[in-house]
Amino acid sequence: MTTLAPNYAPLPIEVASAEGAWVTDTAGRRYLDCLAGYSALNFGHRHPDLVAAAKDQLDRLTLTSRAVGHELLEPFARAITSLTSTEMLLPMNTGAEAVETALKAARKWGYETQGISEGDATVVVAENAFHGRTTTIISMSSDPEARAGFGPYTPGFRIVPYGDADAVAAAIDETTVAVLLEPIQGESGVIVPPADYLRQVREVCDSTSTLLVLDEIQSGLGRTGATLTQDLAAVRADLTTLGKALGGGILPVSAVVGRSDVLGVLTPGTHGSTFGGNPLACAVGLAVARLLETGRYQARARELAPVLAARAGDLLAGGHVTAVRSIGLWLGVDVATRTGREVSERMASRGVIAKETHGATIRLAPPLCVTQSELHLMMDALESAVSP
Ligand SMILES: *Cc1c(COP(=O)(O)O)cnc(C)c1O
Repeated sequence: MTTLAPNYAPLPIEVASAEGAWVTDTAGRRYLDCLAGYSALNFGHRHPDLVAAAKDQLDRLTLTSRAVGHELLEPFARAITSLTSTEMLLPMNTGAEAVETALKAARKWGYETQGISEGDATVVVAENAFHGRTTTIISMSSDPEARAGFGPYTPGFRIVPYGDADAVAAAIDETTVAVLLEPIQGESGVIVPPADYLRQVREVCDSTSTLLVLDEIQSGLGRTGATLTQDLAAVRADLTTLGKALGGGILPVSAVVGRSDVLGVLTPGTHGSTFGGNPLACAVGLAVARLLETGRYQARARELAPVLAARAGDLLAGGHVTAVRSIGLWLGVDVATRTGREVSERMASRGVIAKETHGATIRLAPPLCVTQSELHLMMDALESAVSP
């Protein structure tokens, strides 16, 4: 009998401590962490700058609520908007909350500025997307596992195939306030859309007065070799959601950044969060911004990307996987020979933590502080795990 709700099926590893790219379990075994908290640990476990920022803040001030102000809120907002070339920031905690915030802002913006009747707003989303687990967010999911049994669903979403800008254009009408997409679909298995997709969707949004909302909770903050993945396409979203690595692997920190005229519709009383923008979160978020301002992590992902891509190519040529997709330090592998679960278990027995996503796909996302030889270790483990 367990008292823990059964909504996860973890690998049989009990982590006791961690540093950088490595975790140690309660039996003293070390593992290279190639899941990295679903990219919440982009800077590795317990990065000294991030831990120092948190410890320093713990001795000063941890929580105020937004009923009063504190010294770090503005600096945090300034640092992240400057890092992402955006105008305004709204702080929340989890990724799902950031997505919910973006949806609420987009709807209210539509009603107040686009002449859409209250209750009619629609949002175009992509098939196989992942944006979180709340009831509204699962309402726009095409994944039966995420959806089934949780209705009634929030109306107002139109699901189109991912990677097809014409399908986005066809789904937009006078009720559409936003198009919400991941620049790369992470949970779906690192699905990289056609090179001109984001730019084309941006043009469609511009010509129809529709907001482009990009969910960079997993793709952002260094993973793909850029601060934001939209940078690679030279596109700027109207709203961008950030999360995961924004909390430096220490605590949940999320935010929506973007146009001030859009976030500006959320006036006092219309939206909020008890913990959003708390001093501890801002201290860690600021330290994360400082790390990313150096460009070091983005550069590392770019430098190691060809190594990862080459090993992925070899793996594909080996014949035990059916597809590989990589960008930056992010790799999706479709396995032919066994289930994803079996592959993760076999990798774990070889000292590498990875996790399947959707049955037969393995998603690898080592911390960006990983070395080239550690990357080879990861790929060696993967290669032998998929072999018969
Ligand atoms: C993880 C994720 C979320 C949800 O974040 P939570 O912090 O788990 O609520 C939303 N969007 C994307 C793209 C994600 O990868």
